[in-house]
Amino acid sequence: MARSEHTVGTPEPADEERADYDHVGGPVHEPELAGALRNRIEGDVRFDEYSRELYATDASIYEVPPVGAVFPRSTDDVAAVVTHCAGEDVPVLPRGGGTSLAGQTVNEAVVLDFTRYMDAPIALDAEARRATAEAGITLGDLNAALADHGLKFAPDPAWGDKSALGGAIGNNTTGAHSLQYGKTDHYIESCEVVLADGTVTTFGDVPVAELREYASRDGVEGDIYAAVADVLDGHRDEIAAAYPELKRNVSGYNLDRLVADAEGEYGEAGVVNLGRLLAGSEGTLGIVTEATVALEPLPETKAMALLCYGDLVDAMADVAPILEHDPAAVEVLDDTMLELARDTAEFADVASMLPDGTSATLIVEFYADDDAEGRAAVDRLLADRLRGDESVTDAPRTAGDALEAHDAATRERFWKLRKSGLPILLSRTSDAKHVAFIEDTAVPPTNLPEYVADFQQVLADHDTFASFYAHAGPGVLHIRPLVNTKTVDGVEQMVSIADAVTDLVVEYGGSVSGEHGDGRARSCWNEKLYGTDVWELFRDIKTAADPGWLLNPGQVVGADADAVAAGSAPSRAETVDMAARLRFDPEYEFEAGFDSALDWTTDNGMEGMVELCHGCGGCRGPQETTGSVMCPTYRAADEEITATRGRANALRQAMSGDLPDDPTDEAFVSEVMDLCIGCKGCKRDCPSGVDMAKLKAEVTHAHQQEHGVSLRDRVFANVDTLFALGSRVAPLANALSSLPGADRLLEATVGIARERETPTLHRETVRDWASARDPGVTAAEADRSVVLFVDSYTNYTHPAVGKAAVRVLEATGTHVEVAARSDSGRPAYSKGLLDAARQTARENVEALSAHVDAGREVVFVEPSDAVMAQSDYLDLLGHDDDATERVATHSYGLCEFLDRNELVREADWAAAGSLTYHGHCHQKATKKDHHAVGVLRRAGYDVDPIDSGCCGMAGSFGYEAEHYSMSKAIGSILYEQVADSDGDRVVAPGASCRTQLSDRPDGDEPPHPAEALADALAEAEPKV
Ligand SMILES: Cc1cc2nc3c(=O)[nH]c(=O)nc-3n(C[C@H](O)[C@H](O)[C@H](O)COP(=O)(O)OP(=O)(O)OC[C@H]3O[C@@H](n4cnc5c(N)ncnc54)[C@H](O)[C@@H]3O)c2cc1C
Ligand code: SF4
Ligand code: SF4
Repeated sequence: MARSEHTVGTPEPADEERADYDHVGGPVHEPELAGALRNRIEGDVRFDEYSRELYATDASIYEVPPVGAVFPRSTDDVAAVVTHCAGEDVPVLPRGGGTSLAGQTVNEAVVLDFTRYMDAPIALDAEARRATAEAGITLGDLNAALADHGLKFAPDPAWGDKSALGGAIGNNTTGAHSLQYGKTDHYIESCEVVLADGTVTTFGDVPVAELREYASRDGVEGDIYAAVADVLDGHRDEIAAAYPELKRNVSGYNLDRLVADAEGEYGEAGVVNLGRLLAGSEGTLGIVTEATVALEPLPETKAMALLCYGDLVDAMADVAPILEHDPAAVEVLDDTMLELARDTAEFADVASMLPDGTSATLIVEFYADDDAEGRAAVDRLLADRLRGDESVTDAPRTAGDALEAHDAATRERFWKLRKSGLPILLSRTSDAKHVAFIEDTAVPPTNLPEYVADFQQVLADHDTFASFYAHAGPGVLHIRPLVNTKTVDGVEQMVSIADAVTDLVVEYGGSVSGEHGDGRARSCWNEKLYGTDVWELFRDIKTAADPGWLLNPGQVVGADADAVAAGSAPSRAETVDMAARLRFDPEYEFEAGFDSALDWTTDNGMEGMVELCHGCGGCRGPQETTGSVMCPTYRAADEEITATRGRANALRQAMSGDLPDDPTDEAFVSEVMDLCIGCKGCKRDCPSGVDMAKLKAEVTHAHQQEHGVSLRDRVFANVDTLFALGSRVAPLANALSSLPGADRLLEATVGIARERETPTLHRETVRDWASARDPGVTAAEADRSVVLFVDSYTNYTHPAVGKAAVRVLEATGTHVEVAARSDSGRPAYSKGLLDAARQTARENVEALSAHVDAGREVVFVEPSDAVMAQSDYLDLLGHDDDATERVATHSYGLCEFLDRNELVREADWAAAGSLTYHGHCHQKATKKDHHAVGVLRRAGYDVDPIDSGCCGMAGSFGYEAEHYSMSKAIGSILYEQVADSDGDRVVAPGASCRTQLSDRPDGDEPPHPAEALADALAEAEPKV
């Protein structure tokens, strides 16, 4: 198995000598402890304030700053940290992706982040279907390494690309296909573990008969075996009676699995595996450093049916009969989710296929050996469950209709539909949010109808609501009530709902957590769920494994409060209070420290956006397994602070007083905001739509108000004026910039990276050329007219692109006027000079709205300028400004315009060859990059659109000396994607993308799609 990209060979951008960031900031906490750990390990130790705050949150509603963060490089490092911390009485908390929803990944402890260095696959035995990997490997990377062998690690949590193997073990993770595969525990063959006293051991299969022998081992290891032997010798019946009959239950310790293994339920009787006891223990019993897991073959094929119901409770009643058909997954969507999908352009087509009156759907997936088998399974299901021929069965049938999916694309759409509503639920910018605290209760599927009806009543009694969705098959429903934890009433409401729902769960034979674990939100309910006797067993196990209660204390189980008060148990052993340490609590105060300069009315104010990130970690996905546009700076640097989550957390913490620095302080700006390249990837791909690019513009602007604007920022913001001046004396200006030493001088004086070439200016601009020629299509003979906005870069340095755009438009019978201006305001906006950007926006809107009023559409050569007019002008000039709104709705990127108006028809163009298409991130953020692909294909090209993010140039970012290494690190991800693509040449509409791509090894400067289309024109005489 190959080691993952992040581990080997990737240069760390911060290590470059010019980089002015090191990902840390603020005072160092407990410096003696930090120093002692640093002396003992090879990994990194960060106890600075920024790092602590970055690790203070996970995907839950909680926030607890840790003692500090450690990035171990080896098992020895982990053992050294645990041993030293045990001696100092300091708790320790292992962490993977930090995507947990119940708060089990935040604590007052030294956090061990395994994802930075200990994230490699180690061994694969494909024949025996077994793999060994380090604890920090993401499930996405693990599965990518297995795919070629037709194998996979079967548990498939929705966020597997971002979560780690250690986290999957910690939470006993599973996913939508748990009906087929069960949970992580089922796949654990052995775990290398660091125990609470620093002992390193391996937990694997042990005969029950030998447990007492193992119990004679020294220290904690022996104590754990003794405790397990005690449980099996004396408490099997208690456990059988207390644990619910569920496919999915991850509350409490995994004692039922221990008993099941001892009794041979899954294999040889009389053999237990303590690695499986660690599953679901949330880092409280031992720290896994590497694990050997069993693998499953990839299914040959799949088939799906989507059944429609008039009522959620009817759908719930149908789950048990559907399970008789042995599906791999049964997922529910209620009316709220369906309504949200209907309102989302992307899913409206699938949602509109559902018959009127559909208030709930069940998506049923089958695994099959071939298509015929898949079809047959769906046929049998529909014959049994669909209303119609009532003679087939006596059982009541409530599904009114069904859609089928027998091809991969349709199945993908069904799954996307299932996931479509959640982002909208989570994008609420109000103080009340759909929070996770009882979001994964589980009950036996036969009890779902009554349980759901009673749950709805609990919500109504508490004057709130929630939608119901997810894994109906194993009885796990995702339910996030709308609650405002910033108020005392809201917190009380949350606790009261949790209490009432725990009663319901107990009544219906369920569990408080069927998926996400106990953590801070649920540990306090475990005694009610299992009863006092089993709760005491949990304490016995915990005390044996961790006598000082140093491993993630307070989660899963706690000591008796009386014992803590009496001093007979460590104080930290108390079970955490679900209402304590909330991220937003009644004491929370927001103070931005400056007045916003942009319009935030659609986001409930800037505060609404700053508080929007819910911590899911979706911005931590690597390009190789998650693709898309999401945070390229994280992908390049692999640092929490360079992910949108890190920035959002740090910004909120700076604005609510948790960080010592203000958001406009130099240290904060350079460590947190400066590295955001403003690609808008988060706005598109974050489930909540966090818009960090817009927040960055605000903070940079406020910073400049206090500290002034640097020379370089002024230069870049005024690039249009500089190009205009330089173009007039083009040969001289070009000669000066290519003088020996000019690059170094420019770096020393202005801060422009010496490696970057300054663009060559042309004497004749696109505007000059256009005004000197007769239009190819006059307004009188044209089918339509446009004003073509040619950006500064194209106008002065790449006029061939602008000319190609004119020729292509004219070939489609369009009259083209070239706009009198080439500055969209984007350069000033991206440098935070918002007043200057606003002034430019105002002037452009005035000029362009006159064109619009005259019946011309506005077409942009440069994608980021199109997006400026389509959305950023509204932020600058106000969403209620009519002229701005009019310009926004009449503005298009070049290919968008051609595509929407169907102006490129196959018969008229004769392109030859294949293209690799790299879209601009701003276009992707506004979901418009597909237009170019469609147009180029219709012109005759074979197009491979790569699933790339930002190129890393991001306007001027890549030109800046201290950002050069980060820019190149991001660029190298794109270079690899381009190299892997089959296209003959790469094409890219973004000017900065083309610059970055031309720097790749053996790379020519790629053309703009306009040039590729012009080439296609040259090959054929258009008939239009
Ligand atoms: C949007 C979203 C969707 C999700 N979908 C699912 C889903 O479908 N199914 C599901 O089961 N969960 C789901 N989750 C929850 C979570 O993503 C998973 O449980 C995931 O497997 C946790 O992995 P992680 O690496 O983020 O773990 P973390 O959150 O970092 O850690 C989880 C627990 O494991 C412990 N731990 C971490 N590393 C180790 C180690 N090396 N040794 C011992 N203990 C360790 C931690 O202390 C913590 O208690 C979802 C979460 C989100 C935000
Ligand atoms: S920024 Fe978005 S994707 Fe990233 S953690 Fe926050 S909510 Fe999740
Ligand atoms: S704008 Fe781009 S770089 Fe900045 S946080 Fe969002 S995704 Fe990351």
